[in-house]
Amino acid sequence: MDIKKIRIALDGPSGAGKSTVAKAIAARMGIVYVDTGALYRTVGLWVMQNGVASDDVQGIIALLPSVEIELLYRDGEQVVLLHGEPVGNKIRTPEASMYASAVSKIPEVREKLLGLQKDLAAKGGVIMDGRDIGTVIIPDAELKVFMTATLAERARRRYKELCEKDMETTYEEVLADMEARDKNDRERESAPCVPAEDAVQFVNDGYNVEESAEYIIALAEKKAAELQ
Ligand code: C5P
Repeated sequence: MDIKKIRIALDGPSGAGKSTVAKAIAARMGIVYVDTGALYRTVGLWVMQNGVASDDVQGIIALLPSVEIELLYRDGEQVVLLHGEPVGNKIRTPEASMYASAVSKIPEVREKLLGLQKDLAAKGGVIMDGRDIGTVIIPDAELKVFMTATLAERARRRYKELCEKDMETTYEEVLADMEARDKNDRERESAPCVPAEDAVQFVNDGYNVEESAEYIIALAEKKAAELQ
């Protein structure tokens, strides 16, 4: 197959480096990167802005018809619009992260974001990162990778990333937040964060971004060659 048409499903827990690695892969391969977590974060932000508690399932469901999310690309960068306005870093705070995790457990929220994600995948030439890409969004993806790293390693990376964005937080806060989100994501009934049966499992402790990207690109090249 034409490698430029490949669909890569990249799943795994928070802080495994999925977005950074996926961005590097997309740039190197000339394909599109879709960060699906940003969509859940944006729903979470809308719920937060409306003063609805993160555990108020009925309140959250009631808000869904009023949320309008669009995704576009500016200079190759994904931009998420909430009611026409770019959400920027507002979706990256620890509070927004907790809201994202809470709303993503609700099947109605997942359903709301399903069509948008499937449409993006249908065009091909895409690497999508999330939790259920290989299991729900693109079950027939040419390549599925479940990428993870140990909890301490993931918390260290996320802390560094937040510091670089000048967000006030501590390593302990990030670690606790990540542990709680892992548990939520793994144990939820709707689309839990588990590897697809045919996913390649990749534990990337000790790999830098370039090395992780290279590992996945090599898998993609092998797959594309097999599908000739
Ligand atoms: O990947 P990121 O940390 O930005 O995702 C934010 C939250 O959205 C996660 O805690 C996860 O619960 C949820 N999520 C999801 N399914 C996806 C992507 C993200 O449930 N495909």
